[in-house]
Amino acid sequence: IFNLSGKAALVTGGSRGIGAACAKLLAHRGASVAITYSKSAERAEALVAEIVAAGGSAFAIVADAGDANATKAAVAQALDRLGGHLDILVNNAGIADHGPVGLVSEASFERQMDINVRGVWYTTSSAVAAMRDGGRIINIGSFFSERVPTPGASSYGMTKHAVVGMTRGWARDLAARQITVNTVEPGPIATEANPDEGDRAAMIKTMVPLGRYGQPHEVAELVAFLASPAAAYITGAQILVDGGMLA
Ligand code: NDP
Repeated sequence: IFNLSGKAALVTGGSRGIGAACAKLLAHRGASVAITYSKSAERAEALVAEIVAAGGSAFAIVADAGDANATKAAVAQALDRLGGHLDILVNNAGIADHGPVGLVSEASFERQMDINVRGVWYTTSSAVAAMRDGGRIINIGSFFSERVPTPGASSYGMTKHAVVGMTRGWARDLAARQITVNTVEPGPIATEANPDEGDRAAMIKTMVPLGRYGQPHEVAELVAFLASPAAAYITGAQILVDGGMLA
C-alpha cells in the first residue's frame, strides 16, 4: 500500500535538502524519479548515482524554477524520459529571503515570487495533462503557509500562503481524475537553507516543542505517504511536519 513501483515522479529542486530526501525515498519505494536543480550539478549527479547504485531509477535536469520557459522545457524533458506520463509531482524548489517591508528589495520579492509561486504554477500547469488518473501533486509549503511567526518574513510568508491557494484550487480541479493535491508544511528542517547550528538555530529550537530541528527524511516520509495508494482520500489538505511548532 506504500509501494510506488511503476510510478513516474518529478521532484523540483531535488539536488539537496528536502527535495533530495524526497527523491531518494520515492526511488527507494520504487518510483522512477526525475529531479530538477538550478546550480548544484555535482550534487544532483551524485544523488542520481546514489539512487542508481541502490537499484533505483533517477535522472537530473538543470532548470531554473524561477524561469517559466526553462520550467516548461524541463517538464517536457522529464516527461519524455519518463515515458510520456507522470504519477507524482513534488513542487519543492523554493527560496527564503527575509527583510522587513519597506527595506526588502524588489529583486528579493520578485525572485521569491518567481520560484516559490510562479515556478509551482508553471511546473504543474505544464505537467498536469500528462498526469495519470490517481496521480499525486505534493506542494512543499512551510509553517509560513499557516502563520508568519517572525518579523521580516512577509514576502516569503506570502509565497507560501499562495502555495495553499494553488493546492486547494487544484484539489478541486483534478478530483474527477482522482488526482490528489496537498500542501506539506515543514517546520525548521536542517538543510543548507536553514542550518541546525549557531544562535539562530538555538533560538528556533526554543519555539519547537520537540526541542530540535527536523531532518529532511522526516519530511520525505510524509511526502512518500501522500504519494502512495494509502493516501488516496487525502486531498486539499495542509499537513505540518513541524515538531509541534504551531501547536
Ligand atoms: P535548500 O536550499 O537546502 O535546497 C533547495 C533545493 O532547491 C536545492 O536542490 C536547490 O538546487 C533547489 N533550488 C533552489 N532554487 C532553485 C531554482 N531556482 N530552480 C531549481 N531548483 C532550485 O532548501 P530546503 O531543502 O531547506 O527547502 C526545500 C523546500 O522546503 C523549499 O520550498 C522551502 O521553502 C521549504 N521549507 C524549508 C524549510 C526548512 O527549514 N529547511 C522550512 C519550511 C519550508 P540548486 O542548488 O541547484 O539551486
